[in-house]
Amino acid sequence: MQLRDLHRQYETLKPEMDEAILAAIAAGTHIMGPQVAELEQALTEYVGVKHCIACGNGTDALRMALMVWGIGSGDAVFVPDFTFFASAEVVALHGATPIFVDVCSEDYNIDPDDLLEKIAYVENHTDLRPAAVIAVDLFGQPADYIDIEPICRAHNMFILEDGAQGFGGAIGATKACSFGDIAITSFFPAKPLGCYGDGGALFTNNDEWAAMLRSLRMHGKGTDKYDNVRYGLNSRLDAVQAAVLQVKLRHFDDELKAVNHVAGYYTDLLRGKVTIPFLPPAVTSSWAQYTIQSTERDAIQQSLREAGIQSMVYYPRTMSRQTAFSSIRHLQQPCTVAERLTQTVLSIPMGPYITEKEIETVVSVILRNAK
Ligand SMILES: *Cc1c(COP(=O)(O)O)cnc(C)c1O
Repeated sequence: MQLRDLHRQYETLKPEMDEAILAAIAAGTHIMGPQVAELEQALTEYVGVKHCIACGNGTDALRMALMVWGIGSGDAVFVPDFTFFASAEVVALHGATPIFVDVCSEDYNIDPDDLLEKIAYVENHTDLRPAAVIAVDLFGQPADYIDIEPICRAHNMFILEDGAQGFGGAIGATKACSFGDIAITSFFPAKPLGCYGDGGALFTNNDEWAAMLRSLRMHGKGTDKYDNVRYGLNSRLDAVQAAVLQVKLRHFDDELKAVNHVAGYYTDLLRGKVTIPFLPPAVTSSWAQYTIQSTERDAIQQSLREAGIQSMVYYPRTMSRQTAFSSIRHLQQPCTVAERLTQTVLSIPMGPYITEKEIETVVSVILRNAK
């Protein structure tokens, strides 16, 4: 059993998908093309923001947001210590300094209280200027924007929502990828809304930033392709991938319902046996991962492996401990929850097409080891 079985989704959507892919190839506008503009329109409506700018991948999307805000040398950008490397990598790549913030043990997302402490540390003990917070919607669950936003406003910092895993989540009726001043998502195949290659998108209500992002994704273009007004990237979404995403988006709400059913069943069977994901009542997750915590993590993973069930440790190492950040380690303060999570977390098979029988099998193997 795979962690996320993408083949079942393809089998289900095959007739519609094959037709859309062949039509996109036949149309011949391989780079950008009308499929991309159509997808952007559909995504703005789904998320509820004014502008969607598709691009090459989620990492480029993060970079372009930092470029729009002119973030670079001397700037401190606060990033959760427990996330995928890209969230912090882009900060350092643009010459700014990532400052790692601890996460909440219950929902794996950035801890607003620790954010305040890390801001105070930067203000009192470094020459850096607090410039932005990258809040990650880890495993599909939106970060605590209700508490994060006022902190960012009070300190005059931008919020960048890293919704690479978060597309489809919500707080109340407000959809993920609409929370930050700019939000991003990734269409990497295993993400909640994935294509058949690399892809990404940015979301914002700011007209000026949207125009800049459209320029940045095409070598900083001005009025046309050969008028270049700033340095940019080559970061566009292919027409074929946009066509794939249009099909998947049409089925997305059904899949969202299905993954929430799967998560609910896991939770019913695992409650009280291992630590299960916690969602406040108003919060919806898109369940990019279903991640449990147990002191018996390694034994559980071993049993799952023996039973032919894939599981993954997301994440085995905190940002503070990544070799790439060794030169800025002296600027970091402890993140004890993140450290502990690297020892206890385990992500188990998840997705809209998992059957109840499969869930029961996974759970029975876990319970053999859980204390
Ligand atoms: C996947 C991911 C990214 C990067 O997205 P790509 O499309 O792979 O570049 C960034 N942040 C988080 C939290 C991710 O999970």
